Amino acid sequence: MLPHNADTESPLDLAMPEQPPRSRLYALPPAELGSERVEGMTSYLVRLARAHAVNPRSLIREELVKAADDPERLRFVARYTNYLRTIDGIGPHARVFAALMTELTTVSTLRHLTLLPLADLLPHNGAGLLVRKPCWCPECVAEMVRAGSDATRPLVWSLDLYRVCHRHRRPMVEVCGHCGRPEPFVPTYPDLAHCAHCGASLADLGPPAEHPPATAMAVWVAESLADLIARLPELDGIADRRHFIGFLTAAIAEHTGGNQARFCEGIGLPRWATKRWLAQGERPTLPQILAIGYGLGIRPAAMFLPGPARPAQMSRRLPAKVRGRAARPRLDAADRRRLGKAIAGAANDPADTRSLAELAKEVGLTRSCIKYWFPDECAAIRRKHADACRRATAARVQVDRDKVAEVVCAMVTQGVYPGRRKVNEVLRRHSASLAGPDLMETYRRAVKEGLKGIASR
Ligand SMILES: [Zn+2]
Ligand SMILES: [Zn+2]
Repeated sequence: MLPHNADTESPLDLAMPEQPPRSRLYALPPAELGSERVEGMTSYLVRLARAHAVNPRSLIREELVKAADDPERLRFVARYTNYLRTIDGIGPHARVFAALMTELTTVSTLRHLTLLPLADLLPHNGAGLLVRKPCWCPECVAEMVRAGSDATRPLVWSLDLYRVCHRHRRPMVEVCGHCGRPEPFVPTYPDLAHCAHCGASLADLGPPAEHPPATAMAVWVAESLADLIARLPELDGIADRRHFIGFLTAAIAEHTGGNQARFCEGIGLPRWATKRWLAQGERPTLPQILAIGYGLGIRPAAMFLPGPARPAQMSRRLPAKVRGRAARPRLDAADRRRLGKAIAGAANDPADTRSLAELAKEVGLTRSCIKYWFPDECAAIRRKHADACRRATAARVQVDRDKVAEVVCAMVTQGVYPGRRKVNEVLRRHSASLAGPDLMETYRRAVKEGLKGIASR
């Protein structure tokens, strides 16, 4: 007799095993997360496009724009790729990209590829925070290429204050050594190791370095920024204005018994610097946070994180400004009177709709200089210029709408079907097209009315 087999008698378990949620895009793990070399969001976007073997800008157009709540805005950002630099930062574009990329890849840590963990600490406008052109260290790129991994663009390279590579002590590079052109933030071909224009390797060191040696201050700034970036996941939720004020108040009490002016002098800041943050509610900029850290001999991240006891003495004064600033021209009383008259004249003349930049050029000064001396007049000039621009845009749009209606009407009258391509061909001769949603709507309405007119004849 065969042995009794209990398994064959028990009912089959037909329940499906639990499936983890599927993601729309490949759940690519971010490179070097939680380290000083963590990649930025632009870098992640390029590598994700590479993993899907598509153009990164197509990835934005075809996937991100479709998933966005405000597709028009994202389409605009994708078209003007210089805006894409801000997706590594603290602003609304960084927020939108982090949320969309997280939704599409289900990778939950993508927020830490941006500076968003510092969004409640730094000024909202993020002025001067991010580089204007992508920068790279050829030696770091060479290391990535040698390691056989995809080249990335570390998030710390996106910071404007990061001027030397803290690992190789050499200045960051911002133009291709072969063709001399700057790189785009998001190239059309998904590769961060080669020039987007001529294909030369960005790891190319070129002729022997002629750059001056990095100053101790520049290296300290670069190392502090790298440390800050490495600790972003820890800082998320605690690096805010409240914690900064708590730290600063304690440091002033500890070092100078609460005397703010002496504290500022001790570390080489203007006497009134702390007042702006403690009494006037201003947010500190990154250079200011670095200046305080340098004065106290600590890394900026240590202001927010529990750690070893702080040095009892303020160790040093700033040897130089963390970020140099162009000297403001000094105006004597006669100059100020003369300029004041010219600027007040421009501000009070309703027919004068020049921009502040044009006016500054005419008087031979910078915009910041005239804004400093004549803030109210400058505000009026900017308002007037913005109103004039808005009126000019509205008039241009109306001319384009009339043209679309006219072209469609003419075709219908001639018995030609006003197809989109034909209408576009005529419009192109008048430097217009149906690309925008507004003119497209005008076109649709004109076609509908034109065809209705034929039917009723
Ligand atoms: Zn390097
Ligand atoms: Zn090149």
